Amino acid sequence: MVDGNVKRVLRRVTGKRLAGEELWVTANHLLDAKRPGDFNQAMMELGAVVCTPRAPACLTCPVLELCATQGELAATTKPAPQKQREIHYSLHCRDREIFLVQRSSDASLMPGMWELPELPGMKRTASPSFTLRHSITVTDYKVHVWHAAAPSRCGGKWIPVGRLKQVALTGLARKILRKAAIL
Ligand code: SF4
Repeated sequence: MVDGNVKRVLRRVTGKRLAGEELWVTANHLLDAKRPGDFNQAMMELGAVVCTPRAPACLTCPVLELCATQGELAATTKPAPQKQREIHYSLHCRDREIFLVQRSSDASLMPGMWELPELPGMKRTASPSFTLRHSITVTDYKVHVWHAAAPSRCGGKWIPVGRLKQVALTGLARKILRKAAIL
């Protein structure tokens, strides 16, 4: 999962102005394959709590010795402009279970991780349950979440809510489930 916080950490740790696929390749290279969910969460929290945009707390940072910049990456080139996109997801619950789908093991982004089913071609004829913003690489998403069943044959699985902490969720799925007070 490479959100805005993770991008900043990756750029500062490597000392490179990484963009697009380079960010994913670097994140995959660092990923602990045995505990991808914990790694994902740790990276996001490092960016949110320690390696903050304006005042990184380098002296207390757990990866200080691995970090190429130990502070702000010198501004050289302008970052690429972000694309804007709207996307819709199904949040379908029953009896303390939630319906999730697993990304393909050969997907270029977040292979094997679990997420909410996408609702392709959703028309805005009604209001979604809630909306949030999320950035991945060079795209800013406006994410609409609907309390609606997933499309048939999307190949998902009912997961008990009590097991969600052991599931390798994408950062966006985690964000949606937190907003819905499920995680
Ligand atoms: S040492 Fe500083 S710049 Fe590097 S990751 Fe830690 S907080 Fe960020």
